[in-house]
Amino acid sequence: MVKENLEVILKEIENGNPYGEKVTLVGATKFMPVELINEAISAGLKDIAENRAQEFKDKFPIVTKPVNYHFIGHLQKNKVKYLIGKCYLIQSVDTVDLLDEINKQSLNKNVVTNVLLEVNLGEEQKHGFSFTELESALTYAKSLNGVKVLGLMAMLPDTSDETVLFELSKNLRSVYDEFKVEFGFTTLSLGMSNDYKIAIKAGSNMIRVGSKIFGKRY
Ligand SMILES: *Cc1c(COP(=O)(O)O)cnc(C)c1O
Repeated sequence: MVKENLEVILKEIENGNPYGEKVTLVGATKFMPVELINEAISAGLKDIAENRAQEFKDKFPIVTKPVNYHFIGHLQKNKVKYLIGKCYLIQSVDTVDLLDEINKQSLNKNVVTNVLLEVNLGEEQKHGFSFTELESALTYAKSLNGVKVLGLMAMLPDTSDETVLFELSKNLRSVYDEFKVEFGFTTLSLGMSNDYKIAIKAGSNMIRVGSKIFGKRY
């Protein structure tokens, strides 16, 4: 099942997005047993992501390497230590405080941690920078030697209205393009099982897919 699901999605994204960029598939593996994750890695999945730091800590040692292990959940400062030096990309940096903590612990360990800044796209969302807060956060991040901002991440709202989803995605892509050159962006992480096709059409180049690869979470 996992292998077939993966093949379908990898085929769908093989031509990249309309901007001529390669689209990276990240498997969202929350609640999934390591055997299933390792099966997906054997079948060609190169990037996976956890939502909870404790789950990352527990699974990291037993997941097949090499794999790019991402973090995509809300992260508390006291859990940052589980990720530094292990996590390939922390996608969900939603405050300057968290950025500072990741920077500090990265410098202590002599590593540079890749991050994305999470953007808040709507009223019902709890986390993320607003568009107006982004530029100063990015400028500040540039002054830190322990973190490297690769781009932006966001969650689309839970709606089936494709026009709304496309407009929000397009809007985020314009903001991404506005900062792309100045801040050296490579990565726009947008799109999950239900909306990744729309997100890619609007310019996403990294999708985070859980249930469509691994099946329903119980
Ligand atoms: C769970 C999760 C996903 C994947 O969700 P699916 O709908 O199962 O594809 C993507 N991004 C984040 C931040 C998640 O928590």
